[in-house]
This record gives sequence, C-alpha cells and structure tokens, in this order.
Amino acid sequence: MAKEYALITGGSRGIGRAIAERLAKDGYSVIINYHSNTAAAEEVKAAIEAIGGEAELLPFDVADGVAIETALNDWEKRHEGEHISVVVHNAGIRRDGLMVFMDEEDWHRVLQTSTEAFYYITHHVLSGMLRARKGRIVTVASISGVSGLPGQANYSAAKAAMIGATKALSKEVAARKVTVNAVAPGFIATDMTADLDEAELKKTIPAGRFGKPEEVAALVSFLCSDEAGYITGQVINIAGGMG
Ligand code: NAP
Repeated sequence: MAKEYALITGGSRGIGRAIAERLAKDGYSVIINYHSNTAAAEEVKAAIEAIGGEAELLPFDVADGVAIETALNDWEKRHEGEHISVVVHNAGIRRDGLMVFMDEEDWHRVLQTSTEAFYYITHHVLSGMLRARKGRIVTVASISGVSGLPGQANYSAAKAAMIGATKALSKEVAARKVTVNAVAPGFIATDMTADLDEAELKKTIPAGRFGKPEEVAALVSFLCSDEAGYITGQVINIAGGMG
C-alpha cells in the first residue's frame, strides 16, 4: 500500500496525541502538529516509532494563517509528489468566562484557534484529496458547540463554526470520495480539563465518568477508515450520554 499521510493538529498532548498514536497504528504516516511543547511532541513521535510506526513533527500556530501556509509549503517541498490524505482539526483552547466579563482577546483567540486552521489547512490540502478522489477530514468539535454551555460563548461559537464548515464542505466534496465529519466530545480527561472539579461534574454525566482520549481516537480512526466512506457531514457526540 502506498504511504498515506495524516496531519493531526494539536497532536502533542491529550486527544490529539491519542489520535496520532491510533492513526499510526492504523498504518498512516503521521504528521504531528503542535504549538510550543516540543518535548511532548517528541515523546509522541518516539512512542509511535517504538511500535514501528512513522511520525514527523510540524509545529505551527493554528491561529496564524501565514504560519500554516509556510509550514505546509515546506512539508510539500520535503515530500515532492506526495499529499496529505487525512486531516484531523484537533487543536483547540478554552478561555472560559461569562460574556459580561469576557475580554476581546479571549473571544478572538478562541475563535481564531479553531476557524483559521479550518480555512487555511483545509484550503491547502483539499486539492490533493480531490485529485486522489480520496480523503478524510475530521473536526474535533465539542458538545459545547452543539448545545452551548454557559461561560463558553467564545468556545461554543468556535466549535459551532467548525461544525457549520464541516457540514457545508461535506456536501461540496462527497462526490469525490472525500468525507468531512465532526466529533463532539463531552468531558475527556486531558490537560484541558485538569482544572475542573471532576468529582462534581461526573454527577452530571449519564455514564458517570469522564471519557478517555483513546475513546475519541477510536471514533476518529473509524471515521478515517475505508469502511466509513458513506458517513459524511455528521456530528457524532462522544459524551457518555451528555448533550
Ligand atoms: P489539550 O490537552 O489542552 O491539548 C491541546 C493540544 O492543542 C496540544 O497539543 C497543544 O499544543 C495544541 N494547541 C493548542 N493551541 C495551539 C495552537 N495555537 N497551534 C497549534 N497547536 C495548538 O487539549 P485536549 O483536551 O486534548 O483537546 C483537544 C481538542 O478537543 C480541542 O479542540 C478541544 O477543544 C476538544 N475538546 C476537548 C474536550 C475535553 O474535555 N478535553 C472536550 C470537547 C472537545 P502544545 O502541546 O504545543 O501546547
């Protein structure tokens, strides 16, 4: 089988790390994007290589369109004639606060981290997928973007924007065998949720626990598989019954 590349944004930690490791096990050559935590990204690469997988690092700020273009152009120079066939838009940040107290920076940064990457990365890699008549794009949204959560107007808006873009794009590219789906996790145990009161929040989750990054990765793996070729434009909640 010819080598296939999967780019995972925010692949150095949490859900993105689990997705990178899972897609590497599935046989993809994995491109691990991250922002600044090189040590964590190196650790993921080493873990993948230790099981015989293939991984490379591609750091850039997903909120910066110029940085995205530069990094992807450099990648293409190093990989002449090859293209990226899977993109997982996973990188994201939370800067919670009630709207009445939310400052501009927290609004814009959270939105930009999700929406800039969706545009710049997708725009860059899509033509390769369309030419190959094969591709998978998965957006890691959130139940916050489906239902809205208090204290997260910025985050809910960012995730809802990604869901809207996912649904629209899916209809543009379905005939070329490119699928575009979103997963909407509830509470998953990662650095992002480390500051939350897990004991208290668990009481609000029908399954009675936080999810594991590996559980989200298994869903993403399925959506990226050949078997999932007829699923597109969907938002799949993975939230232990929430939402
Ligand atoms: P996390 O543990 O905080 O990890 C965040 C990852 O994103 C890191 O790899 C980080 O890179 C990267 N990142 C952050 N800002 C970036 C930027 N500007 N450019 C490039 N990379 C950036 O987060 P997580 O919990 O795994 O969340 C992953 C995704 O799932 C996010 O989109 C989040 O909104 C979504 N989600 C999470 C939960 C949850 O409960 N955890 C629930 C629903 C949805 P560095 O290591 O370099 O900082």
